[in-house]
Amino acid sequence: MAKILPPPAAMFALITGRWVSDLLYVAAKLELADRLKDAPRTVGELAASAEVQAPALYRVLRALASVGVFAEIKGPRFKLTPLAATLQTGAPGSMRAAALMLEEKYQVDAWAQMLHGLKTGEIPFRTAHGVSYFAYLDNHPEDLKIFGEAMTSVSTTENPAIATAYKFSGIRTLVDVGGGHGSLLATILKANPKLKGVLFDQPSVIARAQQDRHLTEKDIAERCKLEAGDFFEAVPQGGDAYLLKRTLHDWNDEQCAKILANCRAAMNERGRVLVADAVIAPGNGADRGKLLDMQMLILGGRERTKREFAAIFREAGLKLTRVVPTKCPLSIVEGVRA
Ligand code: SAH
Repeated sequence: MAKILPPPAAMFALITGRWVSDLLYVAAKLELADRLKDAPRTVGELAASAEVQAPALYRVLRALASVGVFAEIKGPRFKLTPLAATLQTGAPGSMRAAALMLEEKYQVDAWAQMLHGLKTGEIPFRTAHGVSYFAYLDNHPEDLKIFGEAMTSVSTTENPAIATAYKFSGIRTLVDVGGGHGSLLATILKANPKLKGVLFDQPSVIARAQQDRHLTEKDIAERCKLEAGDFFEAVPQGGDAYLLKRTLHDWNDEQCAKILANCRAAMNERGRVLVADAVIAPGNGADRGKLLDMQMLILGGRERTKREFAAIFREAGLKLTRVVPTKCPLSIVEGVRA
């Protein structure tokens, strides 16, 4: 059982949380978990293969082991723990890309503008970089690649929950708007053999989706199209449902209303939108969405309550019909033409 610390000690632990994040970034960058995949190794071996200083690396690993990431055994050698294993590249549920994406210098620079943003109302990411987040990624291919991998790995832990929470079988064509590399659409198509799918995202992301191959498996490929475009201009016509997962939270209310209105304009007569995002509940309860909302504050977006979703739906000429909970932290907010 976790020890209950006196408030000053508990506060100090919270304050120094960033140190742990920084160490996780270093571990991810140096591929330490990958290097321990087959067997425990000495610090000397690890340091040589990662091309870093052994004495400092030992201290980094010892600090990480103190929070359950890696463990020191006789030798002295280090081995993987279940937490450390999630930093392996490509492992199921891998968090390596997330560790890189959220702690890369360009993010840290944006977070450094949080206080300035609170005072002025400026979007911290824009203050730091002069452009919006997605424009920045479009100009930084390596960061875009890591972003796509991080979204896919986080999504892999959520996709089955979303695919089973909603009855997709009544839908003929599902358009995944801002669908990233297509892992969610692939999961839903696999579970619903008659469903057709359209993956819609920015050109640079669709190009990557073609390489990432979630949607190129036989059976699925023939039922799925990939389309590139800008959802502020238009989305693919003729869908029965427009899915937006972890996409509206990137934008302010006005921008969301525009994206939703474009879905409304494109959808079939009895079409619907399905927004898969965190729906923040009232009260002080623990909720990852409330912290993720801080990343969205940095980028100029927000996580929303049910009432806030109802308001952006209304702006777009839609009416919120229901909120379907899932077994993951996201819910599906359904809307139809008002
Ligand atoms: N739905 C995916 C990805 C969410 S990230 C998932 O849950 O994993 C948000 C997505 O919106 C990104 O893939 C991004 O490329 C896409 N996006 C951002 N701006 C866009 C635009 N103007 N037009 C189309 N897609 C856009």
